[in-house]
Amino acid sequence: MKDKANILVLGGGFAGLESVIQLRKLGHEVTLVSNRDYLFVYPISIWIPVKKKTSDQVKLCLETLSKKHGFSLIIDEVENIISKQNLVKLSSLEIEYNFLIVAIGMSKMRMKGLEHTHSICGQPEEADIIKEELEKLVQQGKGSIAIGFGGNPKDPTATAVRGGPAFEMLFNFSHYLKKLKLRDNFDLHFFAPMAEPGRKMGEKAYQKMDSFFYHYKIQVHKGKRIVRFNQSAIHFEDDSVLKSDLIIFIPGGIGHPVLENSDLPLSEVGFVKTNQECQVEGGNNVFAVGDVATLIGPKWAAKQGHIAEVMAKVAATNIDNIINGNSDRLSYTKHLNIICIMDSGDGAALVMRKEKSEMMLQLPIVGHWMKRFWGFYYRQSKLKNIPRIPGM
Ligand SMILES: Cc1cc2nc3c(=O)[nH]c(=O)nc-3n(C[C@H](O)[C@H](O)[C@H](O)COP(=O)(O)OP(=O)(O)OC[C@H]3O[C@@H](n4cnc5c(N)ncnc54)[C@H](O)[C@@H]3O)c2cc1C
Repeated sequence: MKDKANILVLGGGFAGLESVIQLRKLGHEVTLVSNRDYLFVYPISIWIPVKKKTSDQVKLCLETLSKKHGFSLIIDEVENIISKQNLVKLSSLEIEYNFLIVAIGMSKMRMKGLEHTHSICGQPEEADIIKEELEKLVQQGKGSIAIGFGGNPKDPTATAVRGGPAFEMLFNFSHYLKKLKLRDNFDLHFFAPMAEPGRKMGEKAYQKMDSFFYHYKIQVHKGKRIVRFNQSAIHFEDDSVLKSDLIIFIPGGIGHPVLENSDLPLSEVGFVKTNQECQVEGGNNVFAVGDVATLIGPKWAAKQGHIAEVMAKVAATNIDNIINGNSDRLSYTKHLNIICIMDSGDGAALVMRKEKSEMMLQLPIVGHWMKRFWGFYYRQSKLKNIPRIPGM
């Protein structure tokens, strides 16, 4: 079966949803394709294992969103993108497009024994599995938990590294076990192969990480390459072994597997190569936004939800300009920053990094409620139940 769409957006995450919202605001007909019938609000999924949120509370129904914003929705798997023919192949359909925005996110590096670990940054179902595994240890009354992240050696800019959720889970687990009066019965370990994990957040934030580890009684293992995992241990390059009853690991990012079959230009890591206007190199009607795309900017630039939304707005505006014969083009470069509310369950640290400034502000109690408010605001504003705050 063959269909035709004027503007086609692939991926129903932060980047894809914001792309269709912006295009609808500009008056365009747009079709969104997603392999899930919901958007998963990853930043608040860290609370599923500690039972502060259920997975349903972290999901946003795409059909409801399509009705609220007036876009067409297809739930199907993207299998191939053939940009030379302006064609996308889905499992049950082929769609021709005039303009395409690719927003299907990134994938994770394969490593030896990865099946013995769980990741909070993978499939949404993993968050519930981590909850069950944690619950088993809680029932046992004691145990050892190791949480870490890795990088991609092919990625010199480290935009493939996602470390924040690992820190958040460690602090949240510590707080959760303390509330259950079990904290002293558990060992909590942080591990990462890089010498200075978290450095991207800025010098000030990085220097304060030790005080967080000390406060939440977390043992740190860094600067050693991970060779493999097995059911109850992490093996490092120097033959040392970290034993753990539950291993949670966020591998370094790689390109989405769909891109391997497609004809879009890719970086060495496998991200879609674009310019700062989100336009894919070598074609003027294809754009890539969010985690799927290369991020052009300073070395510390990080792939985050709000950056995915900035890229989406840039791509939508530039498509609108092309359609209207306007030569103006937006770029995302000057909007690059790191803004993160690093939650600990009993507070949070507000981390900000810009071109010329950086800070980390510790916000006991109130910081945690700021992040919870953000989760409420994100859901309700996307559903048009509350107005959108400019810049948020
Ligand atoms: C646990 C966690 C915590 C985070 N915390 C923060 C935070 O506090 N602040 C922050 O700014 N950022 C945070 N991030 C990062 C942020 O969530 C990502 O940068 C953001 O989700 C990227 O959006 P995206 O739309 O590019 O990708 P995704 O959110 O991964 O969305 C990709 C979409 O494409 C769909 N898709 C994938 N493959 C196919 C296919 N073959 N066919 C059809 N559809 C497909 C998926 O179903 C999904 O809907 C966090 C990430 C994680 C994982």
